[in-house]
Amino acid sequence: MNNATRDADTVNVADVVVVGAGQAGLSSAYHLTRAGLDHVVLDHAPRPGGAWQFRWPSLTYGRVHGMHALPGMELVGADPLRRSSEVIGEYFAAYEDRFDLRVRRPVDVSAVREGDGGRLRVETSAGVWSARALINATGTWDRPFWPRYPGQETFRGRQLHTANYAGPQEFAGARVIVVGGGTSAVQHLLEIADVAAETTWVTRRPPVFRDGGFGEAEGRAAVALVDERVRRGLPPQSVVSVTGLPLNEAVRAGLASGVLDRRPVFDRITATGALWADGSRVDADVILWATGFRAAVDHLAPLRLREPGGGIRVEGTRAVRDERIHLVGYGPSASTIGANRAGGAAVREIRRLLARERVGSPAA
Ligand SMILES: Cc1cc2nc3c(=O)[nH]c(=O)nc-3n(C[C@H](O)[C@H](O)[C@H](O)COP(=O)(O)OP(=O)(O)OC[C@H]3O[C@@H](n4cnc5c(N)ncnc54)[C@H](O)[C@@H]3O)c2cc1C
Repeated sequence: MNNATRDADTVNVADVVVVGAGQAGLSSAYHLTRAGLDHVVLDHAPRPGGAWQFRWPSLTYGRVHGMHALPGMELVGADPLRRSSEVIGEYFAAYEDRFDLRVRRPVDVSAVREGDGGRLRVETSAGVWSARALINATGTWDRPFWPRYPGQETFRGRQLHTANYAGPQEFAGARVIVVGGGTSAVQHLLEIADVAAETTWVTRRPPVFRDGGFGEAEGRAAVALVDERVRRGLPPQSVVSVTGLPLNEAVRAGLASGVLDRRPVFDRITATGALWADGSRVDADVILWATGFRAAVDHLAPLRLREPGGGIRVEGTRAVRDERIHLVGYGPSASTIGANRAGGAAVREIRRLLARERVGSPAA
């Protein structure tokens, strides 16, 4: 990266800007470094670890299902009882050192817009970057999804989202409603039920439990489902959300004890709890929304990449509406294995794009 001066403004110049230093951003940075491409990696989190650094303390490494190593360096010998936030944070830090990835943090990217001479203008808390291509690897953690239900604002108890969940201890003696049909909801319930006065699980659709292992074929099928949505320009679901809920020992125990008895979602929220159309009600002190996350791509809005369906259509990792933009860890690549592969694929395409520009041939 070098600096160029434009009027009074100092504009940093890089061929490629990578936004985000989670699995997707680091995998991309690894491939950019190997390809010898001029780049910078910007991340607004305080430490290495991507979103993992914010995950709740009781999410130990042993409870993470299927964390894939970054390219070129295995994660070996980690204690399954340690917090995944620490294990993965340390692993990412060691990875950045080993491959000299030099992530700039904390740097918040607020907007990416059309710049001069066909370049991208990347506006950040640490100044402006001018780039020829951008890899967006911002994940979903920064955009927790809160659905809206009638009466929600009247609830006198506490409402929080998985993004703010810090473990079960704060729910001791409370009556807790957990909303959501994914792995996070199940993990929250199994933990909270041990200390709470009462738990209620509500999901929009009946949960699907997956017995037995999760092989490559199932993985491919899940990725294909998400891929198909993204191709249609719809907002992606996470790959993890379409794989079903693993029927492990803890889940079996939760089903047997009734903790995982599920109710359909309530029709409205009241001051003291939730109400169903059949007149039944549950009183609650806390509503925990384990309702997932959306792609954190608001900073790309000036480029108008979104389709009428609300999603950004990608071909592989490349945004269909702008070949300078690649989304890694988005839609079908939103898993640790997917993010790894997508990082390599994005860099191969960007290398070709930059080479084409260099020889001045028209865009393909
Ligand atoms: C609770 C939970 C459990 C999961 N468990 C698994 C699992 O067991 N196995 C699995 O394969 N996958 C799992 N996943 C999915 C997996 O974590 C991610 O898909 C994968 O790690 C890819 O991460 P990422 O790099 O895309 O995103 P992240 O790890 O979220 O990294 C994104 C980075 O971008 C930065 N960023 C965001 N916006 C900006 C901005 N505007 N400016 C600057 N920086 C920005 C953030 O600070 C962050 O460091 C889980 C996800 C969740 C939410």
